[in-house]
Amino acid sequence: MEFLPLFASIKESACLVVGGGAIATRKAALLARAGGRIRMVAPEVCASARDVVEQSGGEIRLKEFEEGDLDGVALVVAATDNVQLNAIVSDAAKRQRLLVNVVDQPALCTFVFPSIIDRDPVMVAISSSGASPVLARLLRARIETLVPASYGRLANLAGRYRKRVAELFPDVNQRRGFWESILSGPVAEMVFAGKERQAESALSQALDARQDARQQGSTPMGEVYLVGAGPGDPELLTFRALRLMQQADVVLYDRLVSPEVLDLVRRDAERIHVGKERDNHTLPQSGINQLLVDLARQGRRVCRLKGGDPFIFGRGGEEIETLADQGVPFQVVPGITAASGCASYAGIPLTHRDYSQSVRFITGHLKDGTINLDWPKLAGDHQTLVFYMGLVGLPVICERLQAHGMSADTPVALVQQGTTRHQRVVIGTLATISAMVAERQIKAPTLTIIGEVVNLHERLQWFQPSLGDGAD
Ligand code: SAH
Repeated sequence: MEFLPLFASIKESACLVVGGGAIATRKAALLARAGGRIRMVAPEVCASARDVVEQSGGEIRLKEFEEGDLDGVALVVAATDNVQLNAIVSDAAKRQRLLVNVVDQPALCTFVFPSIIDRDPVMVAISSSGASPVLARLLRARIETLVPASYGRLANLAGRYRKRVAELFPDVNQRRGFWESILSGPVAEMVFAGKERQAESALSQALDARQDARQQGSTPMGEVYLVGAGPGDPELLTFRALRLMQQADVVLYDRLVSPEVLDLVRRDAERIHVGKERDNHTLPQSGINQLLVDLARQGRRVCRLKGGDPFIFGRGGEEIETLADQGVPFQVVPGITAASGCASYAGIPLTHRDYSQSVRFITGHLKDGTINLDWPKLAGDHQTLVFYMGLVGLPVICERLQAHGMSADTPVALVQQGTTRHQRVVIGTLATISAMVAERQIKAPTLTIIGEVVNLHERLQWFQPSLGDGAD
């Protein structure tokens, strides 16, 4: 992290602005909006700067900058067109451990001004750490459209009830749950529609209802979200997955969930890692099922994040069976399964009018050194086979398919860590792939795609986002 984002109070504090032109005026105006008193130092100062300084209760010093101008200030902005002078100001400020910003010279700054979306008291600040202010502004424009103009009024309403809500819900999770139901529900909609009085009475009623429930001694039941996290690239999450990930109090995840996806979980949610390395289950399946039930009974909103799609080789069915038996409310959010993600990112269509009229998702998990599958059916033509969990069993899979009549030339793709930055694709045939894989250092998870469609990879891969090392 190049800069630490924080929101500072500069009310009543002297802020030094060196320079008296248009840019200096803009910075001074911003500091003044946050209550700073501007001390402007420059041999000449434009008329609008004078107004800003005067309204802030500050002072103008019509002269060149000297070190003494730093006395008693909270922070410093150098906004002159003299590069040398800017450097002198920056050095002097740093010597006195004052925060300093030099306009358009990130190397001389100890703080930068972010792009802001002002919904006072709500502020959204965006920074590219000086790398690309234009990119930060573009992002700001996108976020502007997402944050209703009346967000500030909603925040003010919440602010008025903050104390009462804190008294009623001493438990931080319950308090958060209450606020989320208010701030993303009908009360918020009323504020956005300009019906603030109505919103306030709805909020007050909701509080009364909770108070009654409290007096009757009932703990509200939480719920479980069984969420498909996709194969790795966070852009492949669904909107619903993201919303629930940001709403959950606690998240249970396993090895297949990529760090980039996990990063999108709400910052202060509790994270529980529940396995599973191959043959090294951190928590047995029955333990996971029960943990989901127990957490929900404590009134928590539990997100069970699973790689890919929860219902494809994910044991999602077993988890919700327990929930259903125990009367815990749940919802299931589908995800992009590894076969879809890996196939698109490797440029391999899973079906194709000319080469493959069906696709099968198969588990290639070895049991006692063999895989018990209907090999004659799998060895048929014009279909695509996708093996999950098939790395260890790859030699057996290739041997069995050939033994049942599939041509040794049938193309095979092994996709490692598909859709992530570490994606690698190894292309071979039923006869060659096992040896090719044995020669390379392949990292789990991997997916094996078998069928004529794999040949399209060469032509189609270039249209995919460029990822890691790409194909071998
Ligand atoms: N529910 C998951 C599958 C879980 S089984 C889904 O729908 O994708 C675990 C297997 O999925 C792994 O052994 C591997 O074969 C496959 N897999 C999951 N993510 C993958 C990825 N990013 N790249 C390649 N294979 C992946």
